[in-house]
Amino acid sequence: MGAAGRRVCEIDASEAGAGNISLYLGWDVEVRHRFPVSEQLTLPLATPALAGHTVLVTGSGRRLRQIADDPLAAVGALRVDPGGATATLWTAPHRTFERLTSELNSHLAVHRDQVARRGLTFQAIVHAQPVHLTYLSHIPAYRSDEALNGALLRWEPETVVSLPDGIAVLDFMVPGSAELMAANVAGLRGHEIVLWAKHGVMARSDVSVTRAVDRIEYAETAARYEYLDLVAGRPAEGLTVGERRQVAVEFGVASRWA
Ligand SMILES: [Zn+2]
Repeated sequence: MGAAGRRVCEIDASEAGAGNISLYLGWDVEVRHRFPVSEQLTLPLATPALAGHTVLVTGSGRRLRQIADDPLAAVGALRVDPGGATATLWTAPHRTFERLTSELNSHLAVHRDQVARRGLTFQAIVHAQPVHLTYLSHIPAYRSDEALNGALLRWEPETVVSLPDGIAVLDFMVPGSAELMAANVAGLRGHEIVLWAKHGVMARSDVSVTRAVDRIEYAETAARYEYLDLVAGRPAEGLTVGERRQVAVEFGVASRWA
């Protein structure tokens, strides 16, 4: 989580306390040794699929760039109770946050959905606010899956390999709202990264937290190319659909964007 937080900051995708990270661990984890302080919490949504398991979550207002310096101060461990309505939050005595991230409901909803539907034992979720992707989402013409992916998957050959499903685009919704939570869950069923219009992105991975950050990097780099081309007056050709298709065939990737 520390390495992921640093990388997110290096690409300017998390100013100050923006962004948050969670990891679902679907096996027995001994958390009391590092997080001896416990309190009972009512979860923002019931997550029976996660009962008995642990979710590591960043604290509200914590800077992602500082997690690596003192992870125990910035992260809490939620052990979900039987039934999934409540949980025990385990933290370190020197924790530097009052509450867990304000996006906790979106994190838990995606963990619940993926674990219930796919039986995952591990999932990493990262929310970040990359400048170029977010800027493009302020332009109405980019606010559809068709337009955004058509524009972004044409700048580097590996983008179609790394993001074969593209990026799901959601309309603006209030941060932390039930509406955003539901749309985000639906978006992350068919994609590994979702763009929340005028706000930022959420990416998931079954493999590792750095892999989730990789998705954000690929998408943000593509958005930076698109922004450069926009500012330069559109002189660039970009990879054609035919060139993208050649790459997809060579790498054995199926994508509707190539
Ligand atoms: Zn945010």
